[in-house]
Amino acid sequence: MSFPHLLEPLDLGFTQLKNRVLMGSMHTGLEEEKGGFEKLAAFYKERALGGVGLIVTGGISPNLRGRLAPNACQLSFPWQVKKHTKVTQAVHEAGGKICMQLLHAGRYGYHPFSSAPSKIKSPITPFTPSAMSARQVNGTIKDYASSAALAKKAGYDGVEVMGSEGYLINQFISSRTNKRDDKWGGEFKNRAQFPIEIVKSIREKVGKDFIIIFRLSMLDLVDNGSTWEEVVQLAKWLEQAGVTIINTGIGWHEARVPTISTSVPRGAFAWVTERLKQEMSIPLVATNRINTPEIAEHIISSGQADMVSMARPFLADADFVNKAAANTPELINTCIGCNQACLDHTFALKRATCLVNPRACYETELNFTPAQTKKRIAVMGAGPAGMAFSIYAATRGHEVVLFEAKSEVGGQFNLARKIPGKEEFDETIRYFLNQIKLHKVELRLNTRLDASVVRDEKFDEIVMSSGVKPRAIDLPGFDNPKVVDYQKVLNGEVSIGKKVALIGAGGIGFDIAHYLCESESSTLDLNRWLKQWGIDKDYKEAGGLTAPVPEEKHREVYLLQRKTTKIGKGLGKTTGWIHRTVLKQHQVMTKVGVSYDRFDEQGLHISVDGKAEVLDVDNVILCAGQVSNTELVDEMKSTGLPVHLIGGVDVAAELDAKRAIRQGAELAITL
Ligand code: FAD
Ligand code: NAP
Ligand code: SF4
Repeated sequence: MSFPHLLEPLDLGFTQLKNRVLMGSMHTGLEEEKGGFEKLAAFYKERALGGVGLIVTGGISPNLRGRLAPNACQLSFPWQVKKHTKVTQAVHEAGGKICMQLLHAGRYGYHPFSSAPSKIKSPITPFTPSAMSARQVNGTIKDYASSAALAKKAGYDGVEVMGSEGYLINQFISSRTNKRDDKWGGEFKNRAQFPIEIVKSIREKVGKDFIIIFRLSMLDLVDNGSTWEEVVQLAKWLEQAGVTIINTGIGWHEARVPTISTSVPRGAFAWVTERLKQEMSIPLVATNRINTPEIAEHIISSGQADMVSMARPFLADADFVNKAAANTPELINTCIGCNQACLDHTFALKRATCLVNPRACYETELNFTPAQTKKRIAVMGAGPAGMAFSIYAATRGHEVVLFEAKSEVGGQFNLARKIPGKEEFDETIRYFLNQIKLHKVELRLNTRLDASVVRDEKFDEIVMSSGVKPRAIDLPGFDNPKVVDYQKVLNGEVSIGKKVALIGAGGIGFDIAHYLCESESSTLDLNRWLKQWGIDKDYKEAGGLTAPVPEEKHREVYLLQRKTTKIGKGLGKTTGWIHRTVLKQHQVMTKVGVSYDRFDEQGLHISVDGKAEVLDVDNVILCAGQVSNTELVDEMKSTGLPVHLIGGVDVAAELDAKRAIRQGAELAITL
């Protein structure tokens, strides 16, 4: 067997898990949609059929005050059981097992009736919670237990008690947020009593043969978090209280250290679980940035954990486990950790999906069923849009010929993958290329599609996915070879000096600044990455933080924009702060409200607030957005065949790979 440790069953005594893969909790947004539980059932069923050993649902609140948002899902009353039954039945029919996550948001509740151990506002929510009375504390413990009992009634195989990421239970455990002077506050033993009582009450209600997972915050990554000794002690008390499995939680949501984004090294926190494993006898689950069967197998075979939790990788590919079991890991659609279509959607109160798999959470809506009429389709350009269209159209039975002017597929992803921390983008290119082969798309590299090719061969339709080109700026001196666009820089066509000005501070401006400042990607070197972010593997201080060690500055970079808004405002909700912090670490100088004047031997002449200045730079790099590559549109239309535009050639503004891939998929189901 290819991944023997990962695929080995796990015996929990009263029940067996078929392998060591836990699908971690994710809120999809379907929980609150009208008719969402039918869609949720289809979503989980596909993952169960895909071979996952144990699924954990998104967080469900045990009471009203614990909701994450005013309309968030809650399980407190018998009439709420029925909709959950749809999910559990679907998963069981598919041969899977599923636990419901119990999550009380505490002070992270995004509503005015949130409550917490003490009246202390979190830095990431606008609402100040009320401090729970002793009666409310006792009532909340009972609510957890009743909710778990209802979960059992709904057919769940167990519950996961969310005790990490800075939610209510974490808020009780930590002196950072627990300032109570009653029996639930003060010394650690008192603060730890809340989760222990919750677990005991749940166990009492649900009996022996029901899984209780506790997600334990093993590394808070905030000041005044738990000490290592406290983590170990609590884990032992939880085991005595009746927990079956301990899952790992890393970092509170308010921590200023990235824990799951693409720039976090794979398996970056498995060492934390490994540390606890030496102290425990019940199974432990490792989490965070585990996205391939290889890294998952390594974590289990090397004894770091008994199971691995992967959440987003199951948005990216429902069949992850089956593909690992069939020894075809090269066919897995790998989660690239971008957060663009999952967490960023959740924060915007939109349904979660996946940048690399637009079907995720759309299982009942986006289906590539066989086409009624088979067509021969010419596709212009093998960037994300063209590749996605080609494989989905071929899945439906169309005969697809994919033309790519360059010698490789991937389009601008070939540039993106050169940015430090974006190495994962390689995996998407690998996945699509293998799908192109699998679905027998005829790929013609080094071949520019134009009207003459269309006329020479018989096609029924044309899909243009020719992408974008960098926007040029026409100003005095900008014809100097020292003024270049970002593509030339990433393609290594020019050598760049020690002092540089970047025009444009969108996603690409940020990426280029990072590329020019970081000599080697820290994502590929765990110890260097941990040092860069001030994470202490020796765990000397509570919370596991230490002083960050930045890389020595070797280039002076200015990042400029015309707008007067905060730099990086348009970046992803859950990742923008990371990009801004990285540029600060590298001492990149930013200016807003800039107007550009000219470039000459003195440097770049600009003015800010009407005041002229010269930036003494060797190079100017244009990161000023893109324009659609439309030069062939009229020519293609002149062939008389139907012509469809997707991705950047359709609309360049605010183009990203999420839109490019989804547009490809959505067009494929219509032809
Ligand atoms: P393109 O990727 O531009 O592909 C078009 C393809 O068409 C090219 O391969 C081109 O050679 C080919 N072509 C053109 N004309 C012809 C012809 N006549 N015949 C044959 N082939 C032709 N997006 C994100 O979502 N997240 C990110 O984090 C992110 N980071 C990025 C970082 C960088 C540095 C860059 C440059 C881009 C990044 N992007 C990111 C943007 C993302 O790469 C683009 O949105 C996406 O590639 C657009 O896809 P597309 O298929 O429309 O076009
Ligand atoms: P962008 O986000 O639109 O940014 C373009 C920048 O150029 C802006 O700062 C804009 O700001 C400036 N600009 C526009 N026209 C200009 C002009 N005529 N003269 C001078 N400056 C001009 O585009 P991008 O950075 O090229 O990124 C392209 C797409 O790739 C984005 O939409 C993004 O979604 C995606 N991407 C995403 C990520 C990510 O991490 N998620 C990373 C990279 C790329 P001012 O007008 O204020 O000067
Ligand atoms: Fe992973 Fe990005 Fe898909 Fe989210 S959107 S699951 S981070 S690939």
